Amino acid sequence: MKEKIARYIDENKNWLIEKIADIVSVNTVNSPPTGNENNGQEIIEKIFKNLGLEIDRFSPDEVNDFKDSKVYLKGRDYTNRDNLVGIAGEDKKRTLIFNGHIDTVPTDFSKWTKTETSKAKLIGNKIYGLGACDMKGGLISSIFALKTILDLEIPIKGKVIIESVVDEEFGGANGSLACVKRGYTGDFAIVAEPTVMKICVSNVSSRVIEVKITGTKGLNYAGTDVKGVNPMLLGAKLIVALKDYENFLNSLKDKYEVYKKIDKPIRFLFSDIKAGEIGPDKILTTPEECLIRIYMMSYPDVNKDKFADMMLSFLKNYPDIYKYIKNGSIIFSEGRRFIEGGNLDLTLDNNKEFIGKVVGNGKKMANRELKISAMLGGTDFFAFSNYSNTSVIVLGPGGGNCHAPDEYVNLKDLIDLSKIYAGLIYDYCC
Ligand SMILES: [Zn+2]
Repeated sequence: MKEKIARYIDENKNWLIEKIADIVSVNTVNSPPTGNENNGQEIIEKIFKNLGLEIDRFSPDEVNDFKDSKVYLKGRDYTNRDNLVGIAGEDKKRTLIFNGHIDTVPTDFSKWTKTETSKAKLIGNKIYGLGACDMKGGLISSIFALKTILDLEIPIKGKVIIESVVDEEFGGANGSLACVKRGYTGDFAIVAEPTVMKICVSNVSSRVIEVKITGTKGLNYAGTDVKGVNPMLLGAKLIVALKDYENFLNSLKDKYEVYKKIDKPIRFLFSDIKAGEIGPDKILTTPEECLIRIYMMSYPDVNKDKFADMMLSFLKNYPDIYKYIKNGSIIFSEGRRFIEGGNLDLTLDNNKEFIGKVVGNGKKMANRELKISAMLGGTDFFAFSNYSNTSVIVLGPGGGNCHAPDEYVNLKDLIDLSKIYAGLIYDYCC
């Protein structure tokens, strides 16, 4: 039967390509506090209807008690942003959940070179387009896997749940958490975020920190007070110190089974810096303030409080910086939701068997050796691992330029993924 499933997927891959093109070409940009996800959900809902799935379409705000819970990220507007869940099967065997976010980051198409508009484009073995890799490609692959089982009329005795969720980008996570709160839990969940075909059994914790450094205005070589603090120089020192902190965190990796095999598991993104004004008509002076934004990661067991404590205690090794933290010249604030990390418990037989089956389907269905690794970036993994009893992994395609112009996904990966997902549905639900 598995040969038949793989053959069906090869023979019908145009369906996959077409549907990805359709969904990539519509605007589902997340622009907090609002978003445009329903443009994509209309398409997904039509597909779900054609497949005869039971459909649940709901706003994260209408889930009982969710809006009042501690885990709900406040300040979002969910007008025209519905979660969409499609369900197949009889619930007499295991339940498998596929999760994908439909929202994308904003982009400036004038900077794209492969496609100048929102239209997706297949060039060689790559599909270019906003959200192709992150993560409409993975989402459509999971739907294609279910379609394959249904079209081949293989009875689904268990349950397959496909979640097309809103608001993952910008540290949202309310979409996936709302699904959990609504009762969508199962034996196993696969988040189809791009992992370059690695099976990620763990997810780092992450946060965006915004730093505001204030100093002394004026020239630092004339006047009575020439000893002022230049926030730009202090910012430069802080950046170097935080780079040291990143190295320190990487030096702890041997304590963590999946992380110790990764060359540099903790990778900070120093993304923004702003101080003063540049231009021939701008006066030369010490900038009043320096603003810095950094995306930081840590290990899955590091929670929000520990995350801040660890960084501050590390910075105590730098008295030249730490004194300015103490006197309030350097202020750290949370730029977004703290994204919790999470783990799949590999001491449990069920989970070990699951990973064995994922690896086995990689080999049998797609002739690929899938490696076990960790997800080095925030995803909705934690919604499952920390807020439900669903065992979860991240497994998705490879590609490039995510969150940048000329984003693309590898078509071969999506075809192979569809085969692997379908193989898992067959093993656990049929
Ligand atoms: Zn993503």
